[in-house]
Amino acid sequence: MRMSRLFVQTLREYPADAEVISHKLLVRAGYIRKLTNGVYNYLPLMWRVLKKIENIVREEMDKAGAQELLMPFVQPAELWQESGRWDVYGKELMRLKDRHSREMCLGPTHEEIITAIAREGIRSYKQLPVNLYQIQSKFRDEIRPRFGLLRGREFIMKDAYSFDIDEEGLDKSYKIMEKAYKRIFERCGLETKMVQSDSGAIGGSVSHEFMVLVNENDENNAGENDVFYCTKCGYSANSNHAVSILNEAVTDGGFTKAEIIDTPDTHSIEELSNFLHIPQSVICKALIYVIDGNYVLALIRGDKTVEETKLMNAFAGNDIRIARNDEMDEIMQISGFNAVAGFIGPKGLKNIEIIADETVKDLKNFVIGCNQTDKHLIGANWGVDVELPEKIADIRLVEENDKCVDCGNKLKVTRGIEVGNIFKLGTKYSKAMNATFTDKDGQEKPFIMGCYGIGVSRTAAAAVERHHDEHGIIWPLSIAPYTVIIVPVSDQDETQMKTAEELYNKLLAANVEVIIDDRSERAGVKLKDADLIGIPYRITVGKTIKDGLVEFKTRATGETETIPPDEALKRIEILSY
Ligand code: ATP
Ligand code: MG
Repeated sequence: MRMSRLFVQTLREYPADAEVISHKLLVRAGYIRKLTNGVYNYLPLMWRVLKKIENIVREEMDKAGAQELLMPFVQPAELWQESGRWDVYGKELMRLKDRHSREMCLGPTHEEIITAIAREGIRSYKQLPVNLYQIQSKFRDEIRPRFGLLRGREFIMKDAYSFDIDEEGLDKSYKIMEKAYKRIFERCGLETKMVQSDSGAIGGSVSHEFMVLVNENDENNAGENDVFYCTKCGYSANSNHAVSILNEAVTDGGFTKAEIIDTPDTHSIEELSNFLHIPQSVICKALIYVIDGNYVLALIRGDKTVEETKLMNAFAGNDIRIARNDEMDEIMQISGFNAVAGFIGPKGLKNIEIIADETVKDLKNFVIGCNQTDKHLIGANWGVDVELPEKIADIRLVEENDKCVDCGNKLKVTRGIEVGNIFKLGTKYSKAMNATFTDKDGQEKPFIMGCYGIGVSRTAAAAVERHHDEHGIIWPLSIAPYTVIIVPVSDQDETQMKTAEELYNKLLAANVEVIIDDRSERAGVKLKDADLIGIPYRITVGKTIKDGLVEFKTRATGETETIPPDEALKRIEILSY
C-alpha cells in the first residue's frame, strides 16, 4: 500500500469526546470515525485489524470443531416471545416494526435463533454434540455507550452455541471452548485472566469471563469490571460474583437494653456511628432498591456494601437500581411508615420484600432504623426486638484484603476489560422453546446448551489499551494492519526513493503486508504518523543509504539498528511467518 493512496486521515489532536486511550488513539490515528452515539465506521486500517482478529477466532474455533454459519441481524419477535425474553430484555433490545406492523428486533445476541435452528435441524442424539458459531455485528441500545469500541451500541461479536446430550457433554464442550479462548487471546497478543462470573439467576449454572487486566492506577483506565483474585491458590472472580470469608469485626453493640433514642441528622452510617461512638459494624444498614419495578428492603452490616447483581439474582430479577428520593413518598405510603432515608428498618414494614445479607445474622445488641425520622433503635436483638428476615443471602460486595474462601489468603483487586465469556446455559432456552432431540432410549430430551462470546471489536480496543505509548498505538504483530512501513526520509532524494521502492517491491513479492510512505511530507510528519498508526516495524531510508545502510526500528521496544537493506528484508520475512 502506498501511503499517498491509503485512506487514512490522522489528526493532530485527540477527539474531545474520548475519555480512554484506545478511543483517543483509534480516532486520532484514523482507524474509526463516529457515525452516531456508540456507532462507528471501521475505516480501512481498522477493518484490517478486525479481520485479523476474526481470522484468529475463526481458525481456533474451527480447530476446536465448531462450525461457522451466519444468522440474520434482524429477528422476529415471536422467537423472543417463545423464550420469554421479549418482555424482560429491557431497553437494550432495539425493537422495530416492519411495514406489516410485525414486531422485530435488532439482534443483541442469538440464543433464540440458534435454538430454533437446532430445534428444526437436530432430531437425534446421533447428531450431537454440535457447536455452531458466527461472527457478526450486534446491536444493543446500551444505556451508556462510551469508551469508543469498548462499549458501543453496534459492535462485532463472535457468538458460539454448543448443543449436547447431557451435562457431561456440556462439561466437555465448555472445556474445549475454554482452551480455544486461551489460544485466541494469546494469539492476539493479549494476556487474559479467566475469572468466575455472574450467570444470572439460573441456579447452578457456571460461567467465566476472560479479562484483559488494566492498571487501576492509570487515570481514565478503561476497565469496567473489578476482579478479585488470590495470588496463592488462583481463585479469581468478577466482583459481581466474588465471595470471601467475612472479616472479623465487633458485632456486639454492648448496649444493655433495647430502646429508641434520638439520633438527629444521622442520615449516613458514618454519621450514626460518630454520633453514638460505636463501630459501623454494629449497625444494621437498610437500603431500598427497585428490582423489576418492585421495592425491596436490603439489610447488611453497616461496614459492608451491597453487591447489586447478587441482590438482583436473589430475586431472579433482570433489572435493579437503588430507589430514588422522589420515590420515598410512594414507598412510605405502600409500606405504611413515615420516616426519611437513614432511619428505615424492617420492623412493621408492609408490602415490601425484605432480604438480609448473611452479615447481619450475628449482630447482637445492635443499632437499627425504627421508621421514625431522627431516631434509631439501639440494643436490638433478632427475635426479641426485630424479626430476622426469612430471606437471607450473600448480597455483599467483597473487599480487597478479605480472605479467600478457598485458601484463606488475602484477596487482591484489579480492574479488567471483559473480552469474552463462556457460559453453561443448560436447558434455559431449549426447555422454553421446546427444542428437543430423541435420546438413545427413544425419549425426547431438551438440548443441554452452552454459549460462548468474544467481543471482536472490543478485543481490538483492549489491545490498544494494553499496547501503546505516548507516540501512539503499538499493535501486536498478529493483529497489526500492516507488518512494516518503509519511510524514505526525502522524496527528493533519488537514491533513497530507489532503495525504498526496491524494498517495497521485494516485500510485496514475498507477500508481506507493507506500506511505503511515498508522500511529499517532511520526514518528521512521516515518522510521527508511522508511530501513531502503530506499524510493528519501520525501515527508514535516509542519508546512510550512501554507505549502504538503512534504519530498522522495532515499534514495541523503540530499538533501532543500522543495517543493510537486505538484512532488513530478511528480518521482516522471518517475522511475518
Ligand atoms: P458487558 O458485561 O461488558 O456488558 P455482556 O455480559 O453483556 O458484557 P455478552 O452478552 O456475554 O456480554 O457478550 C459477549 C461479548 O461481547 C462480551 O464478552 C464483550 O467482549 C462483547 N460485548 C458485549 N457488549 C459489548 C458492547 N456494548 N460493545 C462492545 N463489545 C461488547
Ligand atoms: Mg452487557
